[in-house]
Amino acid sequence: MQKRFDRSIADYREAVQVIPGGVNSPVRAFRSVEMNPIFIERAFGSRMVDVDGNEYIDYIASWGPLILGHAHPKVIQAIKDTAEKGTSFGAPTELETAMAKLVTERMPSVDIVRMVNSGTEATMSAIRLARAYTGRNKILKFEGSYHGHSDSLLIKAGSGVATLGLPDSPGVPENTAQHTLTVPYNDLNSVKLAFEKFGEEVAAVIMEPVAGNMGVVPPLPGFLEGVREITEQYGALLIFDEVMTGFRVDYHSAQGRFNILPDLTTMGKVIGGGLPVGAYGGKREIMEQIAPTGPVYQAGTLSGNPLAMAAGYATLTEMTPDAYQELERKGRILEEGLRKNAEEAGIPAHINRVGSMVCLFFTGEKVVNYETAKTADTKRFAEYFRHMVDEGVLIPPSQFEGMFISTAHTEEDLNRTLEANRNALKKLKK
Ligand code: PMP
Repeated sequence: MQKRFDRSIADYREAVQVIPGGVNSPVRAFRSVEMNPIFIERAFGSRMVDVDGNEYIDYIASWGPLILGHAHPKVIQAIKDTAEKGTSFGAPTELETAMAKLVTERMPSVDIVRMVNSGTEATMSAIRLARAYTGRNKILKFEGSYHGHSDSLLIKAGSGVATLGLPDSPGVPENTAQHTLTVPYNDLNSVKLAFEKFGEEVAAVIMEPVAGNMGVVPPLPGFLEGVREITEQYGALLIFDEVMTGFRVDYHSAQGRFNILPDLTTMGKVIGGGLPVGAYGGKREIMEQIAPTGPVYQAGTLSGNPLAMAAGYATLTEMTPDAYQELERKGRILEEGLRKNAEEAGIPAHINRVGSMVCLFFTGEKVVNYETAKTADTKRFAEYFRHMVDEGVLIPPSQFEGMFISTAHTEEDLNRTLEANRNALKKLKK
């Protein structure tokens, strides 16, 4: 059945009058999939409902945070109970300490943690801290990785930057960009060469332990270990950007799953339970360089906000080790089903998955880095996306983003999704 979007279309026309591109984050504009953006009215569990009354099984999950699905009763109750007592104090609360304890218990390398309001703030602050701690300026990141939109990190970035096919962003000063080195993901040799050349100047390597902003790209065996060794050898810090993978891919996050301990970790998404949160943490000795214990300045009017802490605490409390096993099982069902469907339809496809992050790339190549991710047929993806919308399944509107499974997705949802995928693949132009 063809869906109707009359109200979304009208809403979009109105929005562009007063909001750049009608959206407050570029990927919501659905540009690369050549569709009018869908305006959402409400959501519950695995479902989202748009303003025209169309219902979708949702795999955007607010771009990762909603690991329990939408409007989980315990999360909503925690927000309500907390809001009754006031929404922000600008003074410390016991809830912040309780949240920090949960994070430090589960994130293996984190002794001590500072809350901020977004992933961008977390990575920007971690970079400043790494530069201050080492007295060096350069940082190394991987092509196609996204670490938020701060100046130093908007170089060869993934996510919306990749989706829109933008070159490095204008507005980043040349003398900032020159301190950022980029090398291909999963290519240890390039990391070695960069360090041989610039090693003494590198403050930190920042990396997604599972790359999630060029689609989903797992680290090849030995890659994380190798980067850990090289950074140690040259006295550079290793920052794991776990904004997406943190509390998503494992009870102990990616660093627990792969058993590699970085010096600093950035977090966001799941720890906010759908409210605006970021965090950065790590070794006490490094973290205590930030104000007020140290000279590195970083602050925030709403940091550690009670509503955000309550939503995050309720979310992490629900996410027991069993819940992660359940997500792993669901991830496997989706991965295997997508692979089988593509094979049966004779469509070249590569499926990558880590835990509940899954990505179907329209390419016959194995996807291990940004170069190989870019071999995917983005036109075909756009067509596929629109067929999936017609089928009532909402996936991230970009070939360079993964689907997020939540505990709210039932086996019936997954089967329905695979049926939608089968139908969508059949309809693709050959
Ligand atoms: N780092 C990673 C790995 C991310 O995936 C993102 C957002 N997708 C960010 C940082 C930036 O987070 P935010 O959008 O909350 O600023």
